[in-house]
Amino acid sequence: MEIIHTIEQLQNIRKNINATVGFVPTMGALHNGHISLIKKAREANEIVIVSVFVNPTQFLAGEDLEKYPKKTEADIKICQLCKVDYLFMPLATTMYTQDEVLIKAPLLRSYTLEGERRPGHFDGVLQVVLKLFGLVKPTHAYFGKKDAQQLSLIMQMNENLFLGITIVPCEIIRESDGLALSSRNVYLSDEQRTQALAISKSLNSAGKLIGRGILECDLIQESMQNIMADLEIEYIAFVDRAFNKIDKIILGNTIILIAVKIGSTRLIDNIWI
Ligand code: AMP
Repeated sequence: MEIIHTIEQLQNIRKNINATVGFVPTMGALHNGHISLIKKAREANEIVIVSVFVNPTQFLAGEDLEKYPKKTEADIKICQLCKVDYLFMPLATTMYTQDEVLIKAPLLRSYTLEGERRPGHFDGVLQVVLKLFGLVKPTHAYFGKKDAQQLSLIMQMNENLFLGITIVPCEIIRESDGLALSSRNVYLSDEQRTQALAISKSLNSAGKLIGRGILECDLIQESMQNIMADLEIEYIAFVDRAFNKIDKIILGNTIILIAVKIGSTRLIDNIWI
């Protein structure tokens, strides 16, 4: 595996690749969720490129940019073990100049839920993903369903800007007790981690209610709220795959999303119905 720090290095390498390129963009502190994306990329592509870059433009003032977990050595080891070909680890000053072309996320899909709570967040996400796509020129790019709204916006950008990349959505990887893996889980104390289990429990219970034929979102939401009674819920939302709000579950075209705050840690999770 080759570790790349500069744009020139990456562009020179990419020039000489004439093969399928699977790309997995990450912010590092790699866990089994990231590893599942890398494995999918490894299975389906001749070349696999992973990026580790904590992108400053997607963090709002007061968010955890400064304290976002960094595990450079472990990340390198994991990528080696997963047989990644190239690991791109740029500095912020390598990725950005003073005065950049800005990307504006589309209104309908980005100004609700995460976009409403974190204004500008998705502008930053799309900006960095587009820049990384321009550098890596992947044939295939892998994103987790864990960040469902992000995935949906990246798919829309790929279509709207005619990028022609195959975007591959990947299943949410969970701990055995149901907690969705996240780099931010390290912020949780033992007690908070136990509290956080209510999130996946409430999503599971929603799935069970739907399995029993209950399709009214109000009813499902009520039961989810009860399960998460001890948590500070930011939202429970019911949307279709294009992120339009829905009142009734549409089988095969619904995502139920949750955002909660536990102490100062914000966690998101969802289930695709
Ligand atoms: P991040 O490093 O948090 O920016 O995440 C990088 C990629 O990994 C994104 O596409 C995430 O959706 C994905 N990801 C993060 N956590 C998980 C998980 N638990 N299961 C599946 N994919 C995940």
